[in-house]
Amino acid sequence: MPELPEVETIKRELAPHLKGEIIREVVIRRKEIVGFPKIQLFKQKVIGKRIKEVERRGKYLILRLSDGSRLIFHLKLSGRLFLIDGEESPKHERIRFLLNQRNLSFVEPRMFGRVFLVEGEVPRVLKGWQELGPEPLSRAFNQSFLREKLRGRKGKIKFLLLDQRIGCGIGNIYADESLFLARINPERTGGSLTQEEIARLVRAIKKVLRKAIRHKGTTLSDYFRPDGKEGGFQSLLRVKDREGEPCLVCGELIQKIRIGNRSTHLCPRCQR
Ligand SMILES: [Zn+2]
Repeated sequence: MPELPEVETIKRELAPHLKGEIIREVVIRRKEIVGFPKIQLFKQKVIGKRIKEVERRGKYLILRLSDGSRLIFHLKLSGRLFLIDGEESPKHERIRFLLNQRNLSFVEPRMFGRVFLVEGEVPRVLKGWQELGPEPLSRAFNQSFLREKLRGRKGKIKFLLLDQRIGCGIGNIYADESLFLARINPERTGGSLTQEEIARLVRAIKKVLRKAIRHKGTTLSDYFRPDGKEGGFQSLLRVKDREGEPCLVCGELIQKIRIGNRSTHLCPRCQR
């Protein structure tokens, strides 16, 4: 699933191509891809609008339109946004926005992803949007925020980091990588973390996310950039997908366990 660094990369790479473009036509190939409103209204409200800005919030990609409305994309597990020249339609294309220069294609093999048109109030179908926590790379995501969120919590820290009210934009890959860098065992309860560990975790999260953005995200299977290329962070992963390989710090073998229903990778020696 694309996480914060992947969606941020998509945003940065789409922005120069989309900003200032006018949406001339919308081709909907599967109507379920539009989460809100109904497709007729969606088309009517989107066609003719200029794309003013390309933004990101958590794992959502946002196109801000000339009338102040927003097209919000949630890529979920396997959604991809491609810039397409010409008429050919990629496999699993669900919706296409025809622009002046190039076209924007939303490809989603598994059909969990959605696009929403939001004017003012965010509709209830966009579950969780209102409750998103602060952006991890903003100043608001700091030691006192995390301490407040983890205080007294009996849930495992790995699980809590995936909660978008706490780790906004963080998913399975960057939760594991951050906990490794902070030397914290993912099975610890949130409430058991010391002040120093919370400070380390905040620093680790910011460091891992920044580095992943610099390397244009992690391609393990489903994530591709708008030009179809892979990200570059997969070769820099220290625990994720390295089960049975030696820890790069201590040489102990990386383990894979399950927390909730999520696979979790850790070094049992480095992470206490
Ligand atoms: Zn280790």
